[in-house]
Amino acid sequence: MVRTAVVVGAGIGGLSAAIGLRRTGWQVTVLERAATFRPAGAGLVLQANGLRCLEVLGLGAAIREQGRVDVSGGTRRSDGRWLARIEAGGLERALGTSAIGVHRAALHEILLGALPDGVVVTGAQVVAVTEDGEVAYQHQGRQVMTHADLVIGADGVHSTVRRLLWPEAAAPVRIGVTAWRGVTPTWDSDLVAAISWDRGAEFGMVPLVDGRIYWFAAINAAPGDPTDDDKARLRARFGGWHNPIPALITATNTVLRDDLTCVDQPLTTYVKGAVALLGDAAHAMTPNLGQGANQALEDAVVLAASPAAPMG
Ligand SMILES: Cc1cc2nc3c(=O)[nH]c(=O)nc-3n(C[C@H](O)[C@H](O)[C@H](O)COP(=O)(O)OP(=O)(O)OC[C@H]3O[C@@H](n4cnc5c(N)ncnc54)[C@H](O)[C@@H]3O)c2cc1C
Repeated sequence: MVRTAVVVGAGIGGLSAAIGLRRTGWQVTVLERAATFRPAGAGLVLQANGLRCLEVLGLGAAIREQGRVDVSGGTRRSDGRWLARIEAGGLERALGTSAIGVHRAALHEILLGALPDGVVVTGAQVVAVTEDGEVAYQHQGRQVMTHADLVIGADGVHSTVRRLLWPEAAAPVRIGVTAWRGVTPTWDSDLVAAISWDRGAEFGMVPLVDGRIYWFAAINAAPGDPTDDDKARLRARFGGWHNPIPALITATNTVLRDDLTCVDQPLTTYVKGAVALLGDAAHAMTPNLGQGANQALEDAVVLAASPAAPMG
């Protein structure tokens, strides 16, 4: 008998889980509340664990075409002095692969492209889930009920599935850091990947395969930074930092801002009856280690490979 799964959320974790489950014979539907997929986010660093998972999903070659495989880098002070260096060759020897920077939209597109039409239903907002695998969602103005042997909550840090089935779980907390992210247009000089630190602030930069630069900045700040001019705020904080930080900010057209949030009280289990959580829904972490998406990929691959995948 064909086993059925409903995945709530078509982010990196949800799409990866859908791909993995389909490869082991599950019939999968992904319910995504967004009506359309717009070019999402900025960049991401895929590390050895995430890259291995993409290999398992059969997407290693596709992602390596979209990512710089030769990225060396390290940690710097705000005046540019290097504190630590990481060579791509050293990572390759230690971990079997270097880390690569990719545009989040490129990764998302590769994951979506690995699923046949009809698997992902957009404009489908899940509103109720039970431990026996009943799912209710709003779609095109009406409520739809469905049932699956396995329901995966991959609906991000503010997960509805976690709130419904783990009502005792602590809500995600803001950590007192605001982050900004951007991708420059094509950048015509060589740039080394780096994270630069100063008291209460950091700035990271990663070259992408197509010549653009992904960068992120984080400042210790109360949630709800009142500025409405993000670039002016960043220039005020990072304008005196080493090159090319001020120029990267100036060159960028669209800057994204987030008050960083995490789940700081771990759940004792990620499984309840026929329901399992993964990715940020299960264990949203601060982005400093660059592991959130990589861990979501790991969750997805391990869950899909598990003979004990929860059954209703
Ligand atoms: C500033 C910043 C920088 C980061 N940098 C990195 C990095 O370099 N490397 C890294 O590995 N990670 C990074 N991360 C973390 C990474 O982005 C997340 O950990 C990862 O995207 C989590 O994926 P996910 O699939 O679990 O959740 P999400 O990507 O949040 O996807 C959840 C999906 O569920 C949908 N959804 C929500 N509710 C419902 C509902 N009720 N019904 C249906 N659909 C629903 C949402 O629309 C969304 O599409 C960064 C995060 C931030 C904020």
